[in-house]
Amino acid sequence: MLKKSRGQAILEGRCPRCRKGNMFVYPFSNFLKFYKMHTHCPVCGLRFEIEPGFFFGSMYISYIFSVGILLGSSFLLYFTLNDPKMWVYIVVIPLVTLLFLPFLFRYSRIVYMYLFSGISYNNKYSN
Ligand SMILES: [Zn+2]
Repeated sequence: MLKKSRGQAILEGRCPRCRKGNMFVYPFSNFLKFYKMHTHCPVCGLRFEIEPGFFFGSMYISYIFSVGILLGSSFLLYFTLNDPKMWVYIVVIPLVTLLFLPFLFRYSRIVYMYLFSGISYNNKYSN
């Protein structure tokens, strides 16, 4: 079987060790339960929270994504609506950020896990 690339595994939210098991219980589209994570990988059994409070660090990744969303939506408002009044920014930008909440939560944890957990792909666990 072909090995899933690191980028594809990150996009799909797969376990960093086997790249097969889902890190999250429900699909991305489930807006009410998007935050539910498996404690262990359903395929290889890796414990995702490798130490207590491990995912606190993902807040830094989430902050970077949030700044990107803030800047992107600000530029979009500025150029499409030809610099609207300040209240438009104040109302629209938090709404856009709320809309991206599942993305922020999931991908900040996934990216943090891949970058800072020290766990790398191991072919032994993917079968
Ligand atoms: Zn796994």
